[in-house]
Amino acid sequence: MIYDLYKAMFYLEDLREILRKNTPFNLDEKDKKEFNKILKETIQTLDKLNLESIDDGSSIRYISDKIEIRTREEEFINIDPIQAGGRLTPEARKVLISYGDGYSVCDNCFKPFRLDCIKKPPIQEFISELAEFLNMDDVRVVRGARNGFQIVANALLNKNDIVLISSLSHYTLALSIESMGAVWKEIPAGKNNVVTAEETAKKIEKVKEETGKLPKLVAIDHIDYNYGNEHDVYGISRVCKDYEIPFLYNGAYTVGIMPVDGKKIGSDFIVGSGHKSMASPAPTGVLATTDEFKDVVFKTTKQKGDITGRKFGIKEPYLLGCTVMGAPLVAMIASFPKVKERVKNWNEEIKKSNFFISEFLKIKGNKVSSELPRKHTLTRVDTNESFDKIAKKHKRKGFFLYDELNARKITGLFPGSSKNFKLNTYGLNWDQIKYLSSSFIDIAEKYGLDVE
Ligand SMILES: *Cc1c(COP(=O)(O)O)cnc(C)c1O
Repeated sequence: MIYDLYKAMFYLEDLREILRKNTPFNLDEKDKKEFNKILKETIQTLDKLNLESIDDGSSIRYISDKIEIRTREEEFINIDPIQAGGRLTPEARKVLISYGDGYSVCDNCFKPFRLDCIKKPPIQEFISELAEFLNMDDVRVVRGARNGFQIVANALLNKNDIVLISSLSHYTLALSIESMGAVWKEIPAGKNNVVTAEETAKKIEKVKEETGKLPKLVAIDHIDYNYGNEHDVYGISRVCKDYEIPFLYNGAYTVGIMPVDGKKIGSDFIVGSGHKSMASPAPTGVLATTDEFKDVVFKTTKQKGDITGRKFGIKEPYLLGCTVMGAPLVAMIASFPKVKERVKNWNEEIKKSNFFISEFLKIKGNKVSSELPRKHTLTRVDTNESFDKIAKKHKRKGFFLYDELNARKITGLFPGSSKNFKLNTYGLNWDQIKYLSSSFIDIAEKYGLDVE
């Protein structure tokens, strides 16, 4: 079914190509014939298409040599930890088709020649709504959360400055600091894997004692990528205020799936990821800030050419001028109305996450490494005493679990992992959640594990 759909869609693209090649002229006889031939094949393909159609092998599998058609989201329940919040809305997918050409958003870029000032498509409007959505004073779309860190690091840090991150921070945060020749140091998450205000204050004092200076920045994930635990960003931001250290809130796993209020958190910077949590294509992200810092991170160019006297208007150096262009940006805008709505359903997502986990824990030996009850849809589980015991005896070793899930049309686990793994239930409906739960139980029972 999905392959037939793709086949028809690709025919339509081929028709579109004939129009592009001939504009502004009418099609000649040869192209007319070609057009009609493809149109006929399209119609035949669509005619054949029905919900019961089984794949008879006549459909295509590749877009072009070696590039396979991707059908993961149509054929599977996908619990891949990083992919759940970045699945596109249909609006975003349509944008990809229409705005795919390189600098497509530049059609109507007029003075002052900056991406965030473009009115058509409505980028300017989006930017101001985005700031409101995050309750921050100003915002820019950037090339992923990591580029948001990089921009802040560029603007704030000098060589050998110290930045506090946590022992659970994402590697891209550490690299952005290292890239500036600055030094990252870790606030320990402790044995329950939660970063606290108290440990943050301790670490600030320690750095002060050892180096005689304060950290230049504290950057903490609200939800970390490893356990999906919630860290005390509210308390940490208060500690930062006391020491007058800027605080960066990393919302890669929050902005776009749960409500985030920058003023309430008291953050100086909010970084989010479009492709992780805002139903957007890569590479997209957001960097929001306050009136106090907007002229620091979004400062405009001041230099001019020594020979030519050239100046570059109001371009922003740390952003390298215009950031995310074309299809990824417009798709992000197209998804935004649904993103704004979906954050209001966060409580329901938490309910589903906890329901799944409670079912998962009925399998004897299964454990959860993340905090309980779950406050997020990303969870790390420990199956050393359950599925891994089977893996040890199975001819496919750890791959057996992947195979069994795959056979049940569930994907997203790292192939071969049977000891511990992460999964994300975000966006699954109740039927899918129940199916997911019973599938794990099914597999457990098949291999003789006790189920409560
Ligand atoms: C995924 C992730 C990032 C990186 O996000 P990109 O948008 O891909 O740059 C940063 N921090 C955390 C906590 C993440 O989970």
